[in-house]
Amino acid sequence: MSQFWSESVHKLKPYIPGEQPKTSNLTKLNTNENPYPPSPKALAAIQAAADESLKLYPDPNSDILKQSIADYYSLDTAQVFVGNGSDEVLAHTFQALLKHDKPLLFPDITYSFYPVYCGLYDINYKTIPLNDAFAIEVDDYNQENGAIIFPNPNAPTGIGLDLTSIETLLQHNPNSVVVIDEAYIDFGGKSAVPLIHQYSNLLVVQTISKSRALAGLRVGFAMGHPDLIQGLIRVKDSFNSYPLDRLATLGAAAAMDDKVYFDNICQRIITSRDTLYVDMQALGFHVLPSQANFIFVTHPNHDAKTLALSLRQQGIIVRHFEATRINMYLRISIGTAQACEKLIKALKNILI
Ligand SMILES: *Cc1c(COP(=O)(O)O)cnc(C)c1O
Repeated sequence: MSQFWSESVHKLKPYIPGEQPKTSNLTKLNTNENPYPPSPKALAAIQAAADESLKLYPDPNSDILKQSIADYYSLDTAQVFVGNGSDEVLAHTFQALLKHDKPLLFPDITYSFYPVYCGLYDINYKTIPLNDAFAIEVDDYNQENGAIIFPNPNAPTGIGLDLTSIETLLQHNPNSVVVIDEAYIDFGGKSAVPLIHQYSNLLVVQTISKSRALAGLRVGFAMGHPDLIQGLIRVKDSFNSYPLDRLATLGAAAAMDDKVYFDNICQRIITSRDTLYVDMQALGFHVLPSQANFIFVTHPNHDAKTLALSLRQQGIIVRHFEATRINMYLRISIGTAQACEKLIKALKNILI
């Protein structure tokens, strides 16, 4: 606490990111990074961009990247917004589109950054409980609201929602912005992006951090009606005109363009996830059905926090959340096939 802080800073409850250990001898299954390297074409683009042109400011609009995203989803660039990681895109979204007199609605179990942004921007919100199976019931959102946001698939459960349910939600809430955070959509879910042509109140947020293996580059994006995008641009240009540097803009564009590599690593992760699902069940875990690059598991006879500590002693880090309702669960990112085998071996040592 400091006497010099602005008054509002005393009240903030900052987000706590997963651990990034300084040593590399640990198997990191705690922050949902991709276990595979980025597209070689993305790396080549970044290396080629590291030249004297760095003395100049980048394109403030990152037009090259917007075009690659627009091409990938058959959109117009006016329907695309880009930012420094989807966390920044989400922050601008909360400020530009989600602050109203009526409460913003999101699930009780969800991405824990949402309440943090509500604190930062002083946004009135209400949480809606997931059902007993930890799934989102869209009918529960048929109540007075200023806007709605949730991830699909949800985090940290990994449970996906079908597009029919999302359309039902949009039809019941035509006067509210509905934000679908698709950080994990490429691991088996169905993207809501095609619905933006029909629903001008829908904003879809995505990132290249997970499925495109570029968490270190910090690039996220949003897609929606140009009026929603203009709102985001107004906030962005009141905050930082150059959120994406030259390397990030070109690297991300090359990653979006390399569909063959992208499809390949996504498929490998899906295959590993399906194997891990079966192996974890065989060890007695209850595993939620995941459409993401992680699984959310609990064991009837073992405390989750103790399990996480035991795994760490064997060189594996996983994520445990203290929140009620989920404090008996562990979130485990899908690693390479080798990393999954190492995890199962370690769990066998611990459980037996
Ligand atoms: C990882 C994650 C993000 C943030 O991704 P970045 O683009 O790396 O900032 C946003 N939403 C959810 C649900 C996530 O899990």
